[in-house]
Amino acid sequence: MHDLVVVGAGPYGLSIAAHAAAAGLDVRILGRPMASWRDHMPAGMFLKSEPGASNLSDPAGEDTLTAYCAGRGLAAEHGGALPIDTFTGYGLWFAGRLPVEVEEREVIGVVPERDGFSVTAGDGRPPLRTRTVAMAVGVLPFACRPGALRGLPTALASHSSDHRDLSRFHGTDVAVVGAGQAALETAALLAEAGARPTVVARAGALRWNAPPRPLGRRSLAALTAPHSALGTGWPSWVWSELPWAVRHLPAAMRVHIAQTALGPAGAWWLRERFEAAVPVLLGHRLLRAAPAPGGGVRIEVATAEGDGGLDVLETGHVIAATGFVPDLRRLTMLDPALREGIATVRGTRAPALGAGFESSSPGLFFAGLPAAPTFGPAMRFVHGATFTAERLVRGVRRRLRSTPCAVAGARAGRGMVPRPGGVRRTLPGRPGQPVRR
Ligand SMILES: Cc1cc2nc3c(=O)[nH]c(=O)nc-3n(C[C@H](O)[C@H](O)[C@H](O)COP(=O)(O)OP(=O)(O)OC[C@H]3O[C@@H](n4cnc5c(N)ncnc54)[C@H](O)[C@@H]3O)c2cc1C
Repeated sequence: MHDLVVVGAGPYGLSIAAHAAAAGLDVRILGRPMASWRDHMPAGMFLKSEPGASNLSDPAGEDTLTAYCAGRGLAAEHGGALPIDTFTGYGLWFAGRLPVEVEEREVIGVVPERDGFSVTAGDGRPPLRTRTVAMAVGVLPFACRPGALRGLPTALASHSSDHRDLSRFHGTDVAVVGAGQAALETAALLAEAGARPTVVARAGALRWNAPPRPLGRRSLAALTAPHSALGTGWPSWVWSELPWAVRHLPAAMRVHIAQTALGPAGAWWLRERFEAAVPVLLGHRLLRAAPAPGGGVRIEVATAEGDGGLDVLETGHVIAATGFVPDLRRLTMLDPALREGIATVRGTRAPALGAGFESSSPGLFFAGLPAAPTFGPAMRFVHGATFTAERLVRGVRRRLRSTPCAVAGARAGRGMVPRPGGVRRTLPGRPGQPVRR
């Protein structure tokens, strides 16, 4: 019986595994490392978050983005845009340095048992038995597709997360629905790949973030508008630095904050590229879409004010860059009775979580986007992984303390210890878990 199985190997899952191993827990981590970043984001993309806000978390704070970039001739400086390949390489490097092996296996079943859970992967191997499970499955299960596009074949309509290689749209008209960074950057990359994108958005105007302020500002400026991982100003600072405090706000306020704070806006470095190449149809919402008689898609859009204005567009393909909304119903690997029994944050389908990220189902923990209605907008970004990994592993240990056998395991000294000079090794007593460097 393991102490913890982490489902998902993105920034959150990897950080949780690092903290759990360092705490001496018998942990397994399942998932394709950095899969969202390797397979579901467009080549040529840059991160919107600042390099300093794009660290995964290990307890020693050594395996930072800066540490990865140093010696590789890569830049990760404040005010510079970080290429996706650098970030993906960093995540894989971090995964390789974990003292536990990341097992590239897809979890298809999480079923409660006496004293824990059984976790089944799709590769036919026997289920893992574990006392606790951390669901860190990221954003992909929660892709939000407009109702108007449902029923269209994938050749005609897709979600932005369906694309790694946009060059397949060379020479094609593409309508990109949305006004956030994913919509604006996808459209710019489409234009640069020889496609003819048009952005269609409900918003009356596009919003663009300003370049980040310099880090060393005079104390008055820093006091009135402090810098944080999620931007400049007191609200961003609170979301970034005090996720634990957000949890104590009334549910309706938390949900509102999680949905609206740091809302759709393009990165400052994208604006020039976008405006030079992409036409926009603002103030319009998608009403209907159907295959066009001559090929492609026919979409009807109405003015967002609902004043009766209607337009019809014909395009080769529609990409919905319409984001992700946490919804437990999408986590089909959870046993149906387990899933339906989990308490949710009022007004959402996201799990209500305690201070240690545990759901109402004892031993079942959630990280990343599903935690946003509890802990606020930081959970939507890599930055939230540090807070999450520390707190969640503390929560797991609290849960394990109530089960004597797990405590005995942890006390037996399994797991990782620091060696002089910062080199890590695994202690004996963890068969089958190779030392990774
Ligand atoms: C286009 C785009 C751009 C973004 N840019 C930024 C940015 O610049 N900065 C930022 O901070 N955030 C950004 N984000 C948000 C970003 O997705 C999160 O910050 C970050 O990836 C969250 O990490 P995660 O570990 O929760 O999820 P993910 O990175 O999505 O990782 C989830 C992992 O779970 C695995 N998994 C899923 N289901 C299973 C299963 N059944 N079995 C096993 N494994 C499973 C996946 O394979 C994957 O490895 C962006 C998101 C998108 C879509």
